[in-house]
Amino acid sequence: MTTRGIRPLPDNLIDQIAAGEVVERPGSVVKELVENSLDAGAGRVEVQIERGGKQRIRIADDGDGIPPEELELALRRHATSKLTGLEELERIASLGFRGEALPSIAAVSRLTLASRTAEAELGHQLRCDGGALGAPEPVAHPPGTTVTVDDLFYNTPGRRKFLRTERTELYHVQEALRRLALSRFDVGFSLVHQGRRLWSVPRAESETERHERLAELLGRAFADHALAVELEGAGLQLRGWLGLPTAARRQGDLQYLFVNGRLVRDRGAAHGIRQAYSDCLYRDHYPAYVLFLEMDPARVDVNVHPMKHEVRFRDGRTVHDFLARRIADALATAEPAGAAAPPA
Ligand code: ADP
Ligand code: MG
Repeated sequence: MTTRGIRPLPDNLIDQIAAGEVVERPGSVVKELVENSLDAGAGRVEVQIERGGKQRIRIADDGDGIPPEELELALRRHATSKLTGLEELERIASLGFRGEALPSIAAVSRLTLASRTAEAELGHQLRCDGGALGAPEPVAHPPGTTVTVDDLFYNTPGRRKFLRTERTELYHVQEALRRLALSRFDVGFSLVHQGRRLWSVPRAESETERHERLAELLGRAFADHALAVELEGAGLQLRGWLGLPTAARRQGDLQYLFVNGRLVRDRGAAHGIRQAYSDCLYRDHYPAYVLFLEMDPARVDVNVHPMKHEVRFRDGRTVHDFLARRIADALATAEPAGAAAPPA
């Protein structure tokens, strides 16, 4: 190979490369943007997409908003309002902290960021086309933030080629939003595709409302045959719903474990749960569950993966055994009638 000399990469190219880690498809854009809305304290998040999200993804929230002088910073790589030092990272409570999502998405789409804080009289918006920033301009906007992402991957044809049919992409958007809607019963969500409302789940407060939401997001078959649990021990708190063994599925597609509000995949934890069910499941069946595990943030490292799908428990064995034993006990004493009385 000929030597061409070492040069630093241009910023925009760095963002496009970084985008590969967090932006895989419309569903991952929805995940990142809705997480930002939740971090901003939104009470309601509206998602509107066109053509499975390939043409347009628009997320509107009623959260804190961004002051006009910070709009540009929001689109700058490694700029975040959520983290100031390493100490904070070790007990991070927000979903984001890397300051990568917005610049990454903006580098591979035509993005408009419009926002208004509660104090401001007017909103402001900033456009960014494939990483090229416009100037902030005033715009009418209610308090909160709207991010519009058009033509995802329009300038990276290699990536665009990997997008699947509208239907498949829509499926992934729905799954991403389902996970987020399950993680926050106190926030309302809606999804509109091509002008059609696919779901709308209001903020759920009462038991009946939470049960309704569970049914809307995961189907009646699960909601009506799930055992509500609230367990505690070893400094861990677990609440949520265990699908009764009789409602086990042939696919492991209804398994949601949230750790400190974040959906995670963890083999150890999943194994513990499966073990708890091992005595009462038919062969080739998988348990269904929606569980929320809460623990001291210092006991879990979330900075393992750019998309933060994985976590590292400082004491994985304790977590595994807690899940295996306590869930087995709960299932053993369950009344098989089990109309879900969801946890608070
Ligand atoms: P991170 O979430 O890791 O901080 P992002 O690139 O996703 O990084 O967002 C950058 C910053 O932009 C955030 O730290 C936040 O201050 C601001 N921001 C993004 N989306 C919103 C939103 N919906 N409401 C308010 N502020 C937002
Ligand atoms: Mg973010």
